[in-house]
Amino acid sequence: MRAMLLERPGTRLRLVHRAVPEAGAGQVLIAVEACGVCRTDLHLVDGELPDPVLPMIPGHEIVGRVVALGTGVQGWQAGQRVGVPWLGWTCGRCRFCRAGRENLCEQARFTGYQIPGGYAQYTVADARYCFALPEEPAPEHLAPLLCAGLIGYRALRMAGDPQRLGVYGFGAAAHLITQVARRQGREVFALTRPGDAESQAFARSLGAAWAGGSDETPPEPLDAALIFAPAGALVPAALRHVDRGGCVVCAGIHMSDIPSFPYAWLWGERSLRSVANLTRRDGDEFFELVRQAPLQTEVHVFALEQANEALDQLRRGAFQGAAVLRMDVPV
Ligand SMILES: [Zn+2]
Ligand SMILES: [Zn+2]
Repeated sequence: MRAMLLERPGTRLRLVHRAVPEAGAGQVLIAVEACGVCRTDLHLVDGELPDPVLPMIPGHEIVGRVVALGTGVQGWQAGQRVGVPWLGWTCGRCRFCRAGRENLCEQARFTGYQIPGGYAQYTVADARYCFALPEEPAPEHLAPLLCAGLIGYRALRMAGDPQRLGVYGFGAAAHLITQVARRQGREVFALTRPGDAESQAFARSLGAAWAGGSDETPPEPLDAALIFAPAGALVPAALRHVDRGGCVVCAGIHMSDIPSFPYAWLWGERSLRSVANLTRRDGDEFFELVRQAPLQTEVHVFALEQANEALDQLRRGAFQGAAVLRMDVPV
C-alpha cells in the first residue's frame, strides 16, 4: 500500500510503499477512502506535540470500508462504512476511564500519533473505538466530522448553554459547529484573523449573526467563546468579550503561550477551560445528530501524495473549511 510517513518532526512527509497491515485480535482492517487533515497533524509535523512515536503515519479523521475482522471482533462486517477518530485506545481501568472520562485516560493512545493513522490506503483500528458511519454523504464530506466535528461538538457542550456564542478561528471545526449552534437556536459571532474578509463572509454564509476580526469587539457581550485557533493571545481577548458568568473554551491540543492579563478580566465568575480529546459517548451523540440532519461540509480534496501540500495550505489558511485526502484521487 501507499502511505505518507513522518520520519522526523520538521521534515516533509515521505511517500512509502508498505505491506497492507493485518487485523490483530480486536481490530478491523480498513480500506481508507478519505482522511481529513487536522490542525493537530500540523502540530505533530511541526514538532509541537510531546513524545511522538516515530516514524508515524498521521491522520485521525479516517473514513473507510471494513475489509477484514480480527479475532474476537463483533458487531462489524466486511463492506461496512467505518470512521476512526483521534481516540484510539484507553486502559478502561484508571480512575478517569471508570468515571466515564476516557478522554482523560492517562494511558490513552491516539490515532496518527501513537497508532498509525489514515494517510494511507489501509489501516487497522481497535474496533471498539470505531464509529459506524452512514453511506451518505461522500467520504470526503464525512471525514472532517471525525475530529473537527467531534471536538467542536465537545467544546460547544463544555460551554454550557450560551445564547451568544463567540467562535475564534473560523476553520474546519468552527464551520461545522456554527451549524450545530444555529440549529440549537444560538447566535454565533465569528472572530477571524483581522482583515480576513473571506472567512468572515464564509461565517456569515453559515448563519453567523456577525463576523469580524479577532481585534474587534462583537456587537454584544458573549455568553461563551470557543477558541479553535492556536494563538494564546486570543485567550485574554476572548475573556474581555465574555460577559459575567461566561466561559472561554480552548479546543486545540496546542497553543502558543497565553499573555498575562488583569485578574479583572476573569473576575465575575468567568471561567477558562480546555477541552481534551473525545469520549465514545461524544461520538455516539454527535453522529446521531448528524444522521438526523446532515451538516454542510466545505472540503478541499487532495490526493494522498499531496498531503504535504494540504498541510502547507492549512498552515497558510489558504482555504475555507477542511482539507481531506482521498485515496482514489490521482495526483
Ligand atoms: Zn484509562
Ligand atoms: Zn484532529
